[in-house]
Amino acid sequence: MREYLKFYIGGQWVDPAEQRTFDVVNPATEEVCGTVAVGSAADVDRAVAAAREAFATWSVTGREDRLEVLRNILGEYQKRAGDLAAALTEEMGAPAALAGGFQVGLGAGHLTTAIEVLENFAFEERRGATLVVKEPIGVCGLITPWNWPMSLIAVKVFPALATGCTMVLKPSERSPFTGQIFAEILAAAGVPAGVFNLLQGDGPSVGVPLSRHPGVDMISFTGSTRAGIEIARNAAPSVKRVTQELGGKSPNIILDDETFAENVRGGVGEMMGNSGQTCSAPSRMLVPSARMEEAIAIAEEAAAQVTVGDPTGDVVMGPVVSESQFEKVQALIQKGIDEGATLVAGGPGRPEGLERGYYVKPTVFANVTNDMTIAREEIFGPVVTILGYRDIDHAVEIANDTEYGLAGYVAGADLEQARAVARRIRAGWVVINGGFDFNCPFGGYKKSGNGREWGEFGFDDYLEVKGIPGYA
Ligand code: NAD
Repeated sequence: MREYLKFYIGGQWVDPAEQRTFDVVNPATEEVCGTVAVGSAADVDRAVAAAREAFATWSVTGREDRLEVLRNILGEYQKRAGDLAAALTEEMGAPAALAGGFQVGLGAGHLTTAIEVLENFAFEERRGATLVVKEPIGVCGLITPWNWPMSLIAVKVFPALATGCTMVLKPSERSPFTGQIFAEILAAAGVPAGVFNLLQGDGPSVGVPLSRHPGVDMISFTGSTRAGIEIARNAAPSVKRVTQELGGKSPNIILDDETFAENVRGGVGEMMGNSGQTCSAPSRMLVPSARMEEAIAIAEEAAAQVTVGDPTGDVVMGPVVSESQFEKVQALIQKGIDEGATLVAGGPGRPEGLERGYYVKPTVFANVTNDMTIAREEIFGPVVTILGYRDIDHAVEIANDTEYGLAGYVAGADLEQARAVARRIRAGWVVINGGFDFNCPFGGYKKSGNGREWGEFGFDDYLEVKGIPGYA
C-alpha cells in the first residue's frame, strides 16, 4: 500500500492546503493499492508562485549548467528505473516487461534526446541585420494522462527544463505513483528549487485552476479531445499558449504484396500492446477487399497468440486501466457486433479464467465499414478493426475519413508506393514499416491536437521567438 500525501513545491515536500485524498485501484486485482493527496486552487497558487520565482534564475542559467542538471537526472532516473516500472505495473497494469522496457525506456530516450538536442540547439540566429532569439516561454502547466505515464511526463518535462522553463506537473489521477517517484528523482538530481513542482489530483481540483491561472504562460496537455477542448477554453481569457496531444483513430494501410501476412500479424500485435491504450495505436487496419478472408485467418491466429493475465508475470497484455475503461471498451465491442461487423476473435466479457481484474479479450473485427462506431470512435482497448479497400486511392480516402489525424501506418515491400501513400495521409506521424526515431516530430492534425513533441521539434513548444531588426 503506497501513501503519497505531500506535494513537491519550491524544492520541499509540503502538505496540501486541504486534507483530502483519493485512492488508486490496481486494475489487475481491483484492490486499493495507494492513497494520494488531492490538490486545490490554493496549492496551484503556491506551486505557480514557486515556479515564477525560480524562472528568474533558471531562464538565464547557461546551457552547460542546464546540461549538467539533465545529466544528473539521467543518472538518478536509471537508479530508479526498477521502482518506476513496478509503480507502472501497479497503477495501470502494464506487463512487467513492457513497463520496465518500453514504458520506462521511452522516458530515458526522451531524456537522452533532450540532452543531445540541447548540446547543439540554436537559441539565436542572425538573419542579415536581424537577430532572432528563442527564449523560454515561462511557467508551464504540464497535464498528462495515464496510458504511458512515464514517457508522457518525460516528453514534456525534459524539453521544458532544457529550454529554461519552470513548471508545475499534474499527472493523471489514475497513475499518480510514477509522477511521485519522478519528482523524487528530480529532487535527488539537484534540480534547483521551484524549477519543477508536482501536484496531484484530477481535472476539476488541479487541472482547471492550472489552466485558468494567469501566472501560467503555457499549458502542455496530453489526453482526451474532450479535456483538451475544455483546457483551451479555460486558458483563453489569459491568452496563454496551449499545446494539445489528443486522441486518435489511426489507419494502418497494408499494401497488396508478398509481405501481407507478416504485416497483418504485425498490425494485430502492435494494437494489442499496452492493452490497446495508446493514442497512436493502429486501430483501423486497411486491407485489399480481395484479401479480406486471408486477413481474417491471419488476424485470428495472431490474436490467439496474445497472452493475457497478471501483469507481474510474463504476458503480452495485462488489464485495461480501470473499471470505467473496461465498461467503455465492452460497450464498444457490443456496438461492433450490433452494427454488423464480423467478430473474428475475442468479443464481450473477460478472458477465460480471469474473473477478477479489468481484463479484456484481444478482439478483432473484420468487414468493418468506416461509418461504424468502432471505426470512428477511439476505443482505447485491445480491439482491431479490419476494413477493405478497392485500390490505393480508396485506401487513402478511408484513412483520411476521420476527425482525427494523430498517426498513420503503411506496411509493404514497395517502398516507393509506401512513401507516396505516407505523404497522402493527413496525420502528424506516419510510420513506414515500423520506423522509429526519437527525433521525429510527433503530434496531431485535426482533432488530434496541435504542437509537436519529441526531439528538436519538442523544444519549440516551450520557446517564444523574439525578432530584433536593426541588431547589427
Ligand atoms: P483525460 O483527458 O481524461 O485526462 C488527461 C489528463 O487531463 C489527466 O491528468 C486529467 O486529470 C486531466 N484533466 C481531465 N479533465 C481536465 C480538465 N477539464 N482540465 C484540466 N485537466 C483535466 O485522458 P486520459 O483518459 O487520461 O487519457 C486517454 C486519452 O489521452 C486518450 O484519448 C488518448 O488518445 C489520449 N492520449 C493522447 C496522446 C498523444 O500524444 N496525442 C498520448 C497518450 C494519450
